[in-house]
Amino acid sequence: MAHQLPPLPFSANDLSPAISSLTIGYHYGKHHQAYINNLNNLIVGTPFENSGLETIIAKAPAGALFNNAAQVFNHTFYFNQFKASATAKKRPENELLRAIEKDFGKFEKFVETFSSAAATVFGSGWAWLVLDQEGNLVITQESNAGCPLARKQKPLMTCDVWEHAYYLDYQNRRPDYIKAFWDILDWNVIEKRFGA
Ligand code: MN
Repeated sequence: MAHQLPPLPFSANDLSPAISSLTIGYHYGKHHQAYINNLNNLIVGTPFENSGLETIIAKAPAGALFNNAAQVFNHTFYFNQFKASATAKKRPENELLRAIEKDFGKFEKFVETFSSAAATVFGSGWAWLVLDQEGNLVITQESNAGCPLARKQKPLMTCDVWEHAYYLDYQNRRPDYIKAFWDILDWNVIEKRFGA
């Protein structure tokens, strides 16, 4: 069962100027595709040859197979949360907003806390908003291919802070990329994930 690169829910230039079509071309077209190709090569002859992605992430030992499976999941999850700035829902409402206010204070405070977590991931990795097993919203940092599914957390949103996510557009200015991230994040998607 070959894993496939899922289609993007937007056109390559829809996220500009927050994320350029050049970055999408490399990040989705090259990096995400490479994780898919690596995964398909690595599962051959293993017990995971016919397993779904989430099973592989939950059960594979640390190493290349886990890393590539987790990166496939992480990137699909990342790209699926974006929309052109003009049509992206800019703030959460209702139950998700109430949960954010319960666990982080005002929405603006949440944005500040998440942005700081993303800015301070040391080296390559990800910042996540997850639901933990007690049902609390938590902001986490993961290095490299770290993935909430491997920790039995439910992921809601993520910011990829590997340099390949922003270097073509922002060079070393990771905080500028994180600031622009909020402009294309579609809270409709995050609300759906929270309610699911
Ligand atoms: Mn990436």
